[in-house]
Amino acid sequence: MSTIQWFPGHMAKAKKQVQEKLHLVDIVLEIVDARLPLASRNPILDQIIQQKPRLMILNKADLADAALNAAWLDYFKRQGLPAISIDSQHNHNVQQIEKQAQVILADKIARQQAKGIKNKPIRAICIGIPNVGKSTILNRLVKKNIAITGNHPGVTKRQQWLKAGKHLELLDTPGILWPKFEDPLVGQKLALTGAIKDSLYHSDDVALYMLAFFKQYFPERLQQRYHLTEEDLTLTDPDLLMKLTADFGLKQDYERASERLILDCRKGKLGRYTLDQVIEAGS
Ligand code: GDP
Repeated sequence: MSTIQWFPGHMAKAKKQVQEKLHLVDIVLEIVDARLPLASRNPILDQIIQQKPRLMILNKADLADAALNAAWLDYFKRQGLPAISIDSQHNHNVQQIEKQAQVILADKIARQQAKGIKNKPIRAICIGIPNVGKSTILNRLVKKNIAITGNHPGVTKRQQWLKAGKHLELLDTPGILWPKFEDPLVGQKLALTGAIKDSLYHSDDVALYMLAFFKQYFPERLQQRYHLTEEDLTLTDPDLLMKLTADFGLKQDYERASERLILDCRKGKLGRYTLDQVIEAGS
């Protein structure tokens, strides 16, 4: 779990570090969590990278709802952002990154070839908020375990290029940016998926959010996992949390019960889910 505290000074430094690296690369790999393709984006990334070619990577697709993975890929493509979904933990679809980068940069590669420049590797950087899987992806692409150092805003070190495929080179230090903290709902989503430090949120708020989400979208999973009746599902979220706390034998320790619910959710005990609903264009 990342220990980055995003004070304004750190944000400014992180932004500057990313900006400094941008001119070194041909393409940005924007990594997001497939369970929260919007909430896990950095709020000012568009402003930072501007017109630089970009590939959106929805990582942890194994934990997200399969139908919504497809819907989100569609959403980004409609926005003019090429996107793929991968599961870097189990090395699924990771090799698509190089292929898609070649497709996105096809014109540039053709221009280079016309000038007699052949086989110039594509240079890329992974950028994303903490814990979206930047290091895991990097290690998969490079095919060995690299201890990612300097993985902290403010730590500078010499850049190195890592061979990440026949035609791809990656900057060894990913760009780390902050999530959209200001929005409390985003904070709850990040907390529920384990993207932000436990000390940054109240576990009962997150558990209440989780219960509301599963009651709305997957009531049967709640019922099955926690042996609930139809009637239990009509309880208000706080009442349901109280009931579950009692069922867990935790008396009135709502915090511990909340932590247990959150952990179940993070471990996938309630199945695959996507917390961000696809927004239709224009809404
Ligand atoms: P970083 O902070 O962006 O570099 O994130 P890491 O690469 O350290 O990954 C954070 C956590 O997510 C680690 O526990 C990884 O094992 C896990 N993780 C990364 N990618 C995936 C994935 O595709 N699927 C699953 N299930 N877990 C992943």
